[in-house]
Amino acid sequence: MKRVIQEKVVLGVSACNFGAPFRYNRRGWDRVKNMGREHSDFEWHPVCPEVGAGLGVPREPIKIAGSSGDDVWEGKAKIINRKGDDVTEKLKGSCLSTLEILRSVNAIGYVYMEGSPTCGVYRTTLKNKRLGHPPGVLGSLLLREGFFLIPAVDLDSPLRWWDWRRRLHAFAWVHSQEIQSKQDLYNLWYTVKFLCQEIDDSAARLIGKSLAMLPKGFSPEYAENLKREILEILRKPSTVNRIKERLWKSYVYFKKSTNQEIEDVLSPEIQRNMTRITKELITMERHAFSNGTFFSSAPILYRSEQRVNRMSKE
Ligand code: SF4
Repeated sequence: MKRVIQEKVVLGVSACNFGAPFRYNRRGWDRVKNMGREHSDFEWHPVCPEVGAGLGVPREPIKIAGSSGDDVWEGKAKIINRKGDDVTEKLKGSCLSTLEILRSVNAIGYVYMEGSPTCGVYRTTLKNKRLGHPPGVLGSLLLREGFFLIPAVDLDSPLRWWDWRRRLHAFAWVHSQEIQSKQDLYNLWYTVKFLCQEIDDSAARLIGKSLAMLPKGFSPEYAENLKREILEILRKPSTVNRIKERLWKSYVYFKKSTNQEIEDVLSPEIQRNMTRITKELITMERHAFSNGTFFSSAPILYRSEQRVNRMSKE
């Protein structure tokens, strides 16, 4: 079973991580360029709400005077710069325009700068550092709108990026599915079930139970809710151990169904570094794709039309 998306996934990205020196102190990074060739598998839309608010570069750093960006939208907190100027309304306006831009280009995800009072979302990878009050003002909007949110720093880490990428493609695929019957619903679930189990076993079990007890007849509301729950699971990162275990299970399945061995894939108890594990995952992805077997860790792959045509001629 090959599930392939051929449309590039559209992503917004904090412009300061797309090569623009837009931070308050004129800093910026090009993390997307550092991804190498893979960056061209996505359509990128760099945005900077602080520059869009007319705050300029360089500028006084801003902070949320309150607990988080959520409070800003509820009118319980303000955004002030180091000189004490209130920039709340300017920044809120710019964040709303940014959201409009992202919606207008059909972005489903956003690569954000951690710790920013504007673009920040969660405290994930830098949890021991002082990182303001997440989510930031734009981060709060994107969370509410159900965007798939990726910390920019994870683009630099091969295994973390692999984890984000395979969940992003599954997310994009689930997002695009029109469910018109119970059968559509079952097909959708069986495609992403193992991935969901790997990410959050208890949430996946609840979905499984709920599907097993489905009453007669088809309810579009039920289907929409279920889709939302699946998307919610896919937004959460996995762990190295769970990734290794699932990879091994998938490999055992691959061996049984194709009678082929892949020397590169090692069993979970063998210690190896992240780069090595990522290499095994990519090898497994390729073998599963070319043999038409199901790789449950990465059930949806992106392959451009040209690449699919090229492979079918080989
Ligand atoms: S974190 Fe967001 S608001 Fe701050 S410089 Fe980067 S893109 Fe602009």
